[in-house]
Amino acid sequence: MLSYRHAFHAGNHADVLKHFVQVQLHKYMNQKDAAYTYIDTHSGAGVYALDSNYASKNAEYESGIAPLWECRDLPPPLAEYVDVVRAMNPSGKLRYYPGSPYVADQMSREQDRLRLFELHPADNKILAENFRKLEAHKAEQGERARGRRVMIERGDGFLSLKALLPPPSRRALVLIDPPYEVKDDYRRVKDALEEALGRFPSGTYAVWYPVLQRMESRQFADKLKRLPAKEWLNVTLTVSTPTPDGVGLHTSGMFLLNPPYTLEPMLRQVMPYLVRVLGKDAAATFTIEKGTQVTGAAVTRTGGQPRQPVGNARRASPLSGGGSLRLPGQKFGEGRGAAEGSREGKPGRASGEKARPDQTPQREGAERPPARNPRNGRRG
Ligand code: SAM
Repeated sequence: MLSYRHAFHAGNHADVLKHFVQVQLHKYMNQKDAAYTYIDTHSGAGVYALDSNYASKNAEYESGIAPLWECRDLPPPLAEYVDVVRAMNPSGKLRYYPGSPYVADQMSREQDRLRLFELHPADNKILAENFRKLEAHKAEQGERARGRRVMIERGDGFLSLKALLPPPSRRALVLIDPPYEVKDDYRRVKDALEEALGRFPSGTYAVWYPVLQRMESRQFADKLKRLPAKEWLNVTLTVSTPTPDGVGLHTSGMFLLNPPYTLEPMLRQVMPYLVRVLGKDAAATFTIEKGTQVTGAAVTRTGGQPRQPVGNARRASPLSGGGSLRLPGQKFGEGRGAAEGSREGKPGRASGEKARPDQTPQREGAERPPARNPRNGRRG
């Protein structure tokens, strides 16, 4: 089923969490000169016009990237992410939002390789066109052609992943970001990771996922914790109280296998800020959990408050592994429910914006009625 179009959700709070973490993953990979391969199993269109029919339909970016765009006091890791968004909006007006392939292109180096997969024919075409324009722009700026640095394929990202592992450089950053329109996506993510870890245990794997009422979603993170990776890290962002009918995406997560050791302390610093800016009510919060294969110990942080280790995550039952899984409608644990700070005093417009090279991302095609989707429970 290919009714999902990411353009409807571009720049929403879930994209903010995902792409902010992605920027930090690239930064960590860039610390070594050795090349790495970035594999994006579900690439989307690469660039989104926020004034298109798609993005403006529900204007999800207005409660995602838009408030951050206005902030003057961003913590440096968030500023690095917003800088990537600014790079495609050199006029200073927020008009375009980068998808994960563009984030990867901005953050990676000449020696790195990007392998991008997208199954939807229209989005695959737009993705290829966006990268063609990007390359043309770079050529105009005098940058030399980068050969087969970026490869875009219309194909099933789950199936394609295994063929690329292990990568020639023996360094890989993999993003798995399916639509979760069909419950099979949850199983396929887990199976793909299991196979990928078998082929290349030391890769860094990042999975975006929605926290929804459906059973597959509620059990998902706990299943991933039992994969045979050396370490895992799970961060979730909740922006509001779940609605009684379950409509709307209020919580999403990024689950990482073999995360950089720097990520967890950085998230602990930055997530309270993100909650303060993106939170819509008192239920806004975050959780951070991590575990290791060696000890199985999982440590959870919710809303910035430390929790006790919760035992062997690999052997734990699905709902006890991390101890942090909240069901829609459930309250957060005592003393951990409220966002740190309030939304009052949101910082004003950014200053000192850097002028970045212009580019002309392609707009999406004609709108058609989309199916309900798990990213917001609405159509699109
Ligand atoms: N990763 C993108 C980003 O952050 O900008 C967004 C990706 S979007 C959530 C998911 C995409 O996966 C959609 O564009 C959809 O067409 C595509 N898709 C669905 N099933 C797929 C599959 N099996 N293989 C590759 N792409 C798929």
